Amino acid sequence: MFKKVLIANRGEIAIRIIRACKELGIKSVAVYSTQDENALHTVFADEAVCIGPASSANSYLNPTRIISAAEITGADAIHPGYGFLAENSEFADMCNSCEITFIGPSSEVIRRMGDKAEAKKAMVEAGVPVVPGSDGIISKEEEAHSLAQQMGYPVILKAVAGGGGKGMRIVRDPKSLENSFMMARAEAEAAFGNADLYLEKYIESPRHIEIQLLGDQKGNMVYLGERECSIQRRHQKLIEESPSPIITDKIRKAMGEAAVKGALHVGYFSTGTIEFLVDSKQNYYFMEMNTRIQVEHPVTEMVYQVDLIKEQIKVAAGMTIDIKQSQLKPVGHSIECRINAEDPANNFIPSPGEVTSFYQPGGPGTRVDTHIYASYKIPPYYDSLIAKLIVWGRERQEAISRLNRALDEFVVEGIKTTIPFHKFVIATPEFLSGDFDTHFIEKIYRKDLIEI
Ligand code: ADP
Repeated sequence: MFKKVLIANRGEIAIRIIRACKELGIKSVAVYSTQDENALHTVFADEAVCIGPASSANSYLNPTRIISAAEITGADAIHPGYGFLAENSEFADMCNSCEITFIGPSSEVIRRMGDKAEAKKAMVEAGVPVVPGSDGIISKEEEAHSLAQQMGYPVILKAVAGGGGKGMRIVRDPKSLENSFMMARAEAEAAFGNADLYLEKYIESPRHIEIQLLGDQKGNMVYLGERECSIQRRHQKLIEESPSPIITDKIRKAMGEAAVKGALHVGYFSTGTIEFLVDSKQNYYFMEMNTRIQVEHPVTEMVYQVDLIKEQIKVAAGMTIDIKQSQLKPVGHSIECRINAEDPANNFIPSPGEVTSFYQPGGPGTRVDTHIYASYKIPPYYDSLIAKLIVWGRERQEAISRLNRALDEFVVEGIKTTIPFHKFVIATPEFLSGDFDTHFIEKIYRKDLIEI
């Protein structure tokens, strides 16, 4: 087992990883920007190293500074969390060449699955259903034109380097293709430094359902059911739950086995997620793979009683997973709300600043993963996620009642948060009945139904 793990991240996920290290008896090292000197991850870790100024490019996104911090403190592994360098194959390579274990899959797999067109090819090879579309990169607009004509509109143009919903354009007719092609390329170039696009059939009213995987370096792999992530705004997830209200045992098994097959085909190990789009007839199509731990991992932990971060660290150290697929049955229901420092009444604009008072909910079946405390100043430089509220109930209805109660208890003053928005969403008939798709939030938001 590792002796000391450096956490190349900040915020709630850094704290989550420090907790796992402590429970495993591993020393932890935090890295922090000058802005985060008083952040909880800096204080909670056994050691902390300042790696630069506030801007991410010069701190949390700077591989050299992070590796130097690991070398100075004698850390034998680095956990990247999510975001920042978590899916950067060059960073994983750098760790390996410095004989520091990167806690995640191999750099080759990160590279291959990070190219979304390549990832789709790999899944086709493995026999996993994928969204119909181009065979790889579409370099000319004419190519997009003829393929779209062949498949039928609407289609969606997506960046091969995509992430966070950027560089995507839905095209409903041939007239708008030219413009969309240019716009998507420009957006992809600006966001990822790579303008390459691929094309897919646009699936109307899909659900976003993903499978959690856990594999070791000896070729053992299990799936820990699904997460329903259809409650999104601008392709960003807001509420996630497990199990999905629409997934039967039979479909879970089929999707889970397909995900395992796909991941083993590319030599995957560690925690990872295969994202699927599910259409109204319950056909499922591979969309992409995330080669890291995800923000929404706690809902899976709640219903499968597995600590995914501890498992991820253990398999990175070469240990064998001792969980059998037959033991993995979801128990109860879990829902997570992502609470952001944003103003939902004002088009979700970021709302950084000082938290003047803070009280987090507790009680039965209630978990809060956060790095916020009273008097903490939320910096404007980083992601606006300030807390994840996760509840568990014996069934979905109990989880929703608990979530409603916990949102009522949650006090964050001095800044605007998305707490009132979550209260509104979970009271809608669509959410209560489980009858929604990825367009749900846009529909209700546009209707101006929100009174918050
Ligand atoms: P990113 O990596 O930027 O998050 P994804 O490929 O995961 O991009 O897609 C994000 C979201 O965009 C999905 O959850 C879904 O809502 C929507 N989406 C992506 N591809 C399609 C498609 N072919 N048809 C319909 N919706 C799509």
